[in-house]
Amino acid sequence: MGKGFFQVPWATNETILGYAPGSPEREAVQAQYKTYFNGKADVPLYIGSEEVRTGNTRSMSPPHDHTHSVGQYHLAEKKHVSSAIEAALEARIKWAQLPWEQRAAIFLKAADLMAGPYRAKMNAATMIAQSKTIHQAEIDSACELIDFLRFNVQFMAEIYSQQPESSEGIWNRVEYRPLEGFVYAITPFNFTAIAGNLPSSAALMGNVVIWKPSSNQVFSAKVIMDVFKAAGLPDGVINMIAGNPAMITDTILDHPDFAGIHYTGSTEVFQSLWKQIANNIAQYKTYPKIVGETGGKDFIIAHPTAPAQQVATAIVRGAFEYQGQKCSAASRVYLPKSTADTILDAVKKDVASFKPPGSPEDMSNFITAVINEGSFDDLAGYIDRAKADKDAEIIAGGGYDKSKGYFIEPTVILTTDPKYVTMKTELFGPVVTIYVYEDKDWSKTLDLVDGTSEYALTGAVMGTDRYALDEATRVLENCAGNFYINDKPTGAVVGQQPFGGARASGTNDKAGSAQNLLRWVSPRLIKETFVTPEDYKYPFLG
Ligand code: NAD
Repeated sequence: MGKGFFQVPWATNETILGYAPGSPEREAVQAQYKTYFNGKADVPLYIGSEEVRTGNTRSMSPPHDHTHSVGQYHLAEKKHVSSAIEAALEARIKWAQLPWEQRAAIFLKAADLMAGPYRAKMNAATMIAQSKTIHQAEIDSACELIDFLRFNVQFMAEIYSQQPESSEGIWNRVEYRPLEGFVYAITPFNFTAIAGNLPSSAALMGNVVIWKPSSNQVFSAKVIMDVFKAAGLPDGVINMIAGNPAMITDTILDHPDFAGIHYTGSTEVFQSLWKQIANNIAQYKTYPKIVGETGGKDFIIAHPTAPAQQVATAIVRGAFEYQGQKCSAASRVYLPKSTADTILDAVKKDVASFKPPGSPEDMSNFITAVINEGSFDDLAGYIDRAKADKDAEIIAGGGYDKSKGYFIEPTVILTTDPKYVTMKTELFGPVVTIYVYEDKDWSKTLDLVDGTSEYALTGAVMGTDRYALDEATRVLENCAGNFYINDKPTGAVVGQQPFGGARASGTNDKAGSAQNLLRWVSPRLIKETFVTPEDYKYPFLG
């Protein structure tokens, strides 16, 4: 940028559309759903300017109708991963030099395409691939991803404007260089927005990227690539490859130009990636940036002063929206004995009002399917265990059926053991576990919340007693990177609640913030002296 200090368009959150019966947005997404559902997509690898079809394919099926195929995607072999790295490094030569406003324009255009002509496609693909209701798709694959793109452009401009002081006769400047090498983005199934953000945030800052989407999200990942291409992203800047994660990872992490990893997914995988990077550390040209947002065991603790209906609504929305498959989903709840019965009656009433789990194509469904058979079997196993264990009782739901789709009923487990397995383990499904504490044990229970889980992603305290809220905020300081007072612990909005957790939940680099973008640059300080000294002797030498 040599000819102006450009101001980027001021970012505001994309308006969430309602999809009420008869609305144009509902008709558009329903039509697109049918087209995708009845079509046969063929998703290639995107390597440089090539769309590579290896012929080694996997079928893609909606979780709510798992015998129906909506197409196939191609799997990479090692040589394709190597080609993707070469294509990225080739693209880097021009991309890293491109003025920032040109990069900004590409991603702002991508945001506008998603908000307009691609909105129904993004949402229908997410409904099919990840079994999201239209509302869950709209807040994810439309609004959140659009927000990521627009806010990140604004954050980039803010970062670039941060410059050091200069003193007389010198000028200090910082340039925010992209990393020297390429970035590896690994994305989870559960948010199309995260799938789009992880590669694009690094690319926006001038990096080139190899992106490996989750095998459960390839169908909607393809639409993201379509949008990036339509927005004019040059070939090779983001290369998307699917295939065996371990093989892809081994090939990438073996490369001397590997410069950073942008990961979201389970804790176990992140820890294995970190170890692998550490083992290879001597062979890299630069110390790789490691950014990972991982699992959670997110809590709600209600004080005796919390209004029962508000707590019940926070549990029902926080635990069951998108079948509990949000990293922030409420999955362990602590209720005071004095109000527990009233709260649980309200929860049971709400759960009983849900239609049985079904397809998101039927827009009256609130609950759809969990992502795959592995997840279904795990969840069914925990439900069976709770049915058998004497310290646990299922007070709502508990049914499951995988004959057509991977359907698990929203399930509430009541336990007498605060360290019961489902109070500690991330299940990632529509199962919430409740522990009832004696009102007098409020302070002790806060310690219990702090000490029960290895994770620290989200959590909520509810109540009207300000001293109690203050105590919880202090005691639970390290329990959650996103802490909510009198709200459910889900639903972070880009630009308002930057998202991420610590402990085993990740590096807390806050997706959707300038802090995250700073991880994708390596600042260079340039000091220029205008009148350069010509005599080594300082005045004190006389
Ligand atoms: P996952 O760990 O199964 O997969 C995540 C990604 O890692 C996928 O792309 C997968 O293919 C890949 N992967 C698996 N093994 C790998 C390996 N050996 N090398 C490299 N990549 C490998 O997670 P998921 O089921 O897709 O997503 C759910 C998990 O993600 C939950 O634990 C959830 O809490 C977490 N999550 C966290 C956040 C957050 O912001 N903290 C957000 C969304 C999801």
